[in-house]
Amino acid sequence: MQAKLDQIAALLKAARRVLFITGAGVSAESGVPTFRGATGAFANGLTEEGIPFEEVLSGTTFTRNPKLSWKYFFRLELSIRGKEPNAAHRAIAALQTADRAVCVATQNIDELHQSAGSTNVIELHGSLRRIICTVCDYRVYHPTFEGMPELPLCPKCKELLRPDIVLYEEMLPEDALGRLDREQDRGFDLIFSVGTTSIFSYVTWPVALASRSGIPTVEINPDETPISHLVRYRLAAPAGAVLRQTIERMNRG
Ligand code: NAD
Ligand code: ZN
Repeated sequence: MQAKLDQIAALLKAARRVLFITGAGVSAESGVPTFRGATGAFANGLTEEGIPFEEVLSGTTFTRNPKLSWKYFFRLELSIRGKEPNAAHRAIAALQTADRAVCVATQNIDELHQSAGSTNVIELHGSLRRIICTVCDYRVYHPTFEGMPELPLCPKCKELLRPDIVLYEEMLPEDALGRLDREQDRGFDLIFSVGTTSIFSYVTWPVALASRSGIPTVEINPDETPISHLVRYRLAAPAGAVLRQTIERMNRG
């Protein structure tokens, strides 16, 4: 592990463009539960109603039973309320310098990368606290959901409001995908996948592409994932300590 960290530190030091693809695991050490993990928000995969979490947070459920979806939007908001960036978010933000561009493509909806100071964050799944109308162009930012009604309605057109997040079965936002494409076109010297089970193609393809073209890739995740066999460096550990140590080595070396 120590030798790997030294090699990654050297690569980071020389890199001019770095991509971090991050998932729920990067926020785990901030006390935000992942969905699937042992201590996750839906540890057995089911909600109180006995429904799989993918279903309760799906576009279909939101259309048919928005109150049920909103019940879990409130739960999600409670799980991120007051949470602070951890060592992993801070390390990623600290890597941005005048000579090194860092792009963060995250599946997270908690804005903790931005809170830590990362300036180029592509939110692939949106942001929970951004509330939008399902019909008109009304949008508002709710730092907390406290005091919101069970089923929030648009003050402009009285139709249903929803968080600006990607529900299961929904398409990813085109602007986010377009930004990631443009960043990919400019190329990266080093690609990290941190804390994601990597089941989505937009997580796997930058890593698969990079490993095919000989660009170094790193995975930080205590568990094996579908891309574990593709990466050059696999670090089976929690993200915070590993990233902090890597940066310390980079600064020393
Ligand atoms: P996921 O598929 O991203 O899985 C989480 C991954 O994190 C797992 O592979 C787990 O092994 C890993 N992990 C756990 N602790 C870690 C740590 N300390 N360091 C590094 N890796 C660690 O996410 P999911 O929980 O199955 O959620 C599905 C979707 O919902 C994803 O898009 C996810 O980003 C989103 N979600 C977002 C948040 C958030 O915004 N914080 C929280 C939960 C879920
Ligand atoms: Zn409206």
